Amino acid sequence: MSKIHVMSETLANKISAGEVVEKCSSIVKELVENSIDAKATEIRIELIKGGLESIKVVDNGIGMDKEDAILAFSRHATSKIIRDDDLFFINTMGFRGEALPSIASVAEVILKTCDGASSTLIHIKGGELLENKSGDLRVGTSIIVTNLFYNTPARLKYLKSENTESYNSINLIEKLALAHPNIKFTLTNNEKDVLKTSGSNNLLKAIHEIYGLNVSNKMLEFKASNNDFDIYGFICKPEILRSNRNDLNTFINDRVIRNSEINKAINDAYYTYKPDSKYPIIILKIDTDPTLVDVNIHPTKQDVKLSKIGELCDLIYTTLKNTLYNNLLIPNALKEESVNIIKDSVIKEIVSNMTKDEKVQTQLNFVVEEKNNTPELNTSEELLINKEMKKMVLYPVGLALGTYIIAQNEEGIYLIDQHAAQERINYERYIKSLKNKTITTTQLLIPITIELSSSDFLELKNHLNILTNMGFIIEEFGINTYIIKAHPTWILKDHEEESIRKIIDLVLTIKDKFDPIKFNDNLAKTLACKMSIKANMHISNIAAEELLKELILCDNPYNCPHGRPTIIKLSIYDLERMFKRVMN
Ligand code: ZN
Ligand code: ZN
Repeated sequence: MSKIHVMSETLANKISAGEVVEKCSSIVKELVENSIDAKATEIRIELIKGGLESIKVVDNGIGMDKEDAILAFSRHATSKIIRDDDLFFINTMGFRGEALPSIASVAEVILKTCDGASSTLIHIKGGELLENKSGDLRVGTSIIVTNLFYNTPARLKYLKSENTESYNSINLIEKLALAHPNIKFTLTNNEKDVLKTSGSNNLLKAIHEIYGLNVSNKMLEFKASNNDFDIYGFICKPEILRSNRNDLNTFINDRVIRNSEINKAINDAYYTYKPDSKYPIIILKIDTDPTLVDVNIHPTKQDVKLSKIGELCDLIYTTLKNTLYNNLLIPNALKEESVNIIKDSVIKEIVSNMTKDEKVQTQLNFVVEEKNNTPELNTSEELLINKEMKKMVLYPVGLALGTYIIAQNEEGIYLIDQHAAQERINYERYIKSLKNKTITTTQLLIPITIELSSSDFLELKNHLNILTNMGFIIEEFGINTYIIKAHPTWILKDHEEESIRKIIDLVLTIKDKFDPIKFNDNLAKTLACKMSIKANMHISNIAAEELLKELILCDNPYNCPHGRPTIIKLSIYDLERMFKRVMN
């Protein structure tokens, strides 16, 4: 029986995929996804001038018989969808039955296909059948598209430059190769190899083939599930961030998708591990019941709507956050990773062998031990890993360039950015104080008066309760002036007025809704930065030692609250390699 079925007219209307052909890469996408659906294990894409001159896709898939090959060019023919109901159970890539006729109506297409029994060649130009004869291909399909938009000059002018068109196609094939590490992809442009994957079915290997060793070496694996979703993939350590969102690779049931809520969950998981303007590299594979996915909201089928998106985003956020937390490392000065400070696998094994009581017990002991230094932590597992890190001791040897503390221990040499380090310590202290429900205040011997512009004065009046809730005793005091008689104790001594002015500035930026969590976080960051030693301020060795001790005790000692690194490490091995004491 023929594999392609003609859809009913209603179903065709239901799909109304719109314009699928708008640029070279959208043709490449349709053709390659056809190959994937044909169960190809090898797909070769050959572009000339980024596809502007010609696009050729060759696969070793199951091919088509003569009847199917002809049917593939008639509108509303598709092997992917059979009944209306199936539309909601789409587990294949899309509806390319729609695409081939559209492509053939605006270009010249030569299709060669062989299903093992028969081999067919079909030649169509501008929708008109020029040739239909026996072909000479081994099993698989080959399609060449040339003269794109030759008969629709209006659309021709929307095509971009060769560079842009090739870039789009490379980007697309990279994503498809990550979605299908079991398929061997080759992409050439003007007969030069651009991208090659081995089809090893190993995702990390595919990442290596696409991004190179420097990236694949810095990827962390994750895996988790809830009732509806299984997620799996790799995220990058915060040291190799990108300046755009292009490498947020998300796949649902092996289909490339885009979803802003998922992107937000990813971004949130890196909170304070990276600056806001940077984005991670991630390969996130989501498997779920296709009924939860609505792929039909956009003709290019990348934007999807999901039922239970909230649960999915929670799962993603928690999993990524824990993966990062459990793998936090000091970035190495050299590209290669050497000593892993956190022997997390060992510790994890210990924890997983513990009984529930033992876990609780360990946690209790630990909390008692570190009472004054430990910010809120969630699980005993995290506590144990943190405990291991907290054993690390750094001995300062000096200050370089008035900015970097040089320290050492038995593992190597460390460079610490003194501002970033103190900012992290202060940030965690402020956050802890701000979260504390019991407020203690300090009376000012000499009250502080703050004069404001009349508009700021009135504006502050609307938000005075924020300040009083924090523990300030603040009253109106003549024209446009407030008097502060007491402040919460966490305000740094000798920096009272400076701190209070900063807090008022921040209160005045509150627009409509007051979000206490966001406000506290902002406040902690601002004060932490303000109250930390700047670069080019010399500190003594004793002060440096104190700073390093406090830093190691932080929840996340490795980044400032803005996501910059605090410590960089040169391991003994790194040094020996640089000085050629060891070779390799
Ligand atoms: Zn700062
Ligand atoms: Zn910072």
